[in-house]
Amino acid sequence: MPKNKFKLNIGSILEAEEGAHVEFDIDALLKLDEKTEMPITAAVQVMKLSHEVNVTAKKFTAEASVVCSRCIKKFKQKISIKLIERQFLFERPHVVEDADDLYLVDMKNATIDIAELFRQELLLHFPLIPLCSLKCKGLCAVCGKNLNLGDCGHNHDVDISSIETQKPLLKLKELFKQSQNGKTTDKQTKSSTKPNQKKI
Ligand SMILES: [Zn+2]
Ligand SMILES: [Zn+2]
Repeated sequence: MPKNKFKLNIGSILEAEEGAHVEFDIDALLKLDEKTEMPITAAVQVMKLSHEVNVTAKKFTAEASVVCSRCIKKFKQKISIKLIERQFLFERPHVVEDADDLYLVDMKNATIDIAELFRQELLLHFPLIPLCSLKCKGLCAVCGKNLNLGDCGHNHDVDISSIETQKPLLKLKELFKQSQNGKTTDKQTKSSTKPNQKKI
């Protein structure tokens, strides 16, 4: 059975005084789900405190295989996280506020497993709209050609999405105009009837 590289043996500090710490250089594949593995590097420090160990990960980098949201090309995106910090408790507390954010030391085996912590952090930092390049030209809306590879001759000045968003705005403008006109004519008729009412 392959050894879990994210399961760290902290036996050397568990029996030591508070403040004792141990360092680990992580360079391993992290399993995100059944199909996805991601290479991870990080410098991890584990420090013993009174009721827990404090885990800090610095220089965290991961390389994700993602699909460009403009040209649908697959590419590798580097994800860097400056600092990850979390406490792993010696004992499960009586009241657990957020079970997803509860990390415990495996006291029997004197280990902590930081795979889940890294997984959660990666999800938080995952690019929502991946771009292979800020200059990515995307695909032609007419023929679907990848415009980074060359032009296809179609007109790309008109962005279909902008037309779609403009349409409702134009309609609103029309409605607004109509209501403005309606108001003024309404006022006009009112004011024009006023003198008549006074006379009566
Ligand atoms: Zn792209
Ligand atoms: Zn085209």
